[in-house]
Amino acid sequence: MFQKQVSLKPYNSFGMDVKAERFVSAENLEDLVSVLETNPSKLLVLGGGSNLLLTKDVKGLVVHINLKGIEICERNNETTLVKAAAGENWHDFVLWTLNQNLGGLENLALIPGNVGTAPVQNIGAYGVELKDSFVNCEALNLKTLEIETFSNADCKFDYRNSVFKSQYKGQYIITAVCFALTNSNHILKTSYGAIQSELKKNGVHNNPNIHDISKAVIGIRQSKLPDPKKLGNSGSFFKNPVVTKKIFKKLHNQFPDIPHYTVSENKLKIPAAWLIETAGFKGKTFGNYGVHKHQALVLVNYGGASGKDLLRLSKLIQKTIKTIFGIELESEVNVL
Ligand SMILES: Cc1cc2nc3c(=O)[nH]c(=O)nc-3n(C[C@H](O)[C@H](O)[C@H](O)COP(=O)(O)OP(=O)(O)OC[C@H]3O[C@@H](n4cnc5c(N)ncnc54)[C@H](O)[C@@H]3O)c2cc1C
Repeated sequence: MFQKQVSLKPYNSFGMDVKAERFVSAENLEDLVSVLETNPSKLLVLGGGSNLLLTKDVKGLVVHINLKGIEICERNNETTLVKAAAGENWHDFVLWTLNQNLGGLENLALIPGNVGTAPVQNIGAYGVELKDSFVNCEALNLKTLEIETFSNADCKFDYRNSVFKSQYKGQYIITAVCFALTNSNHILKTSYGAIQSELKKNGVHNNPNIHDISKAVIGIRQSKLPDPKKLGNSGSFFKNPVVTKKIFKKLHNQFPDIPHYTVSENKLKIPAAWLIETAGFKGKTFGNYGVHKHQALVLVNYGGASGKDLLRLSKLIQKTIKTIFGIELESEVNVL
């Protein structure tokens, strides 16, 4: 059932060549439960490996979640409930929903990773977050090996966060996710980033549909973000920091150009990419790794770098940002 000393290079988007002491791919729930019944003392749950920085060989068991299946659970006049198994590729699932003419996930096209991991950090892009269409998920409790259902409220979704990344970290494996998607009268989000200009570039001047939007998002992402198949990376390495109005005022006095977005009455979000670029890291290379030349938030492995190299660089960036701006940059990527 288990393979030994398996290279995880094909299983992580940074392309880190570390080994798993034991490795198994779970194709269905029964397999997954019987693997867990062996009581592995150390366990790493692996989806698409696109939000992981592996800094050393993994002791214990790596379970690759490979559960498949998509089904329509319920349909009424306005919405359709769709359930997808955790091992479905996220982007393929988004394309499936678009093929069914269902709206809600079009702005989240081309995000790497699997469906089951999407709730862990409440994936988001172009003004939409997973939580906007999430109904519930089924998750295997690692202590009881029973399936529990988590509603949207249970997950306590926040910016790149949920209970699965905080209070219940390492305690559950999400096995399936259910979404409520619109049949028609889709709620379109077109004001974020370069969506408007990309739509115009594609010849869509008014009344875009969900297909136009996903096409625009895919086009923007392909032009801006490095493809992990060609260049090892994990997308945004850091979260955008959120600061109080008081702290922002001080920063603004010192750095009048500092960009910001209002989060709530007393909170503002600052783009981490701007902080990193201003600190002089954008495009910097350190031998076979560095900061992407077009995306200051993306750390890259040009080939042969180790997880420790990338971790060192991320710490240097954090320290520099703290010294210059007094801001603690929090990692979005899971470091192991
Ligand atoms: C080029 C690029 C662009 C990206 N753009 C975005 C973006 O726009 N927005 C965004 O939000 N993210 C983005 N990401 C990050 C990444 O795609 C998401 O975080 C994605 O959800 C990770 O899924 P995964 O299956 O690859 O997770 P993995 O890397 O396999 O796992 C991530 C964490 O979740 C745990 N985990 C895995 N599967 C499960 C499960 N079934 N149940 C419970 N825990 C589990 C793992 O143990 C690990 O701690 C990007 C990444 C890349 C490489």
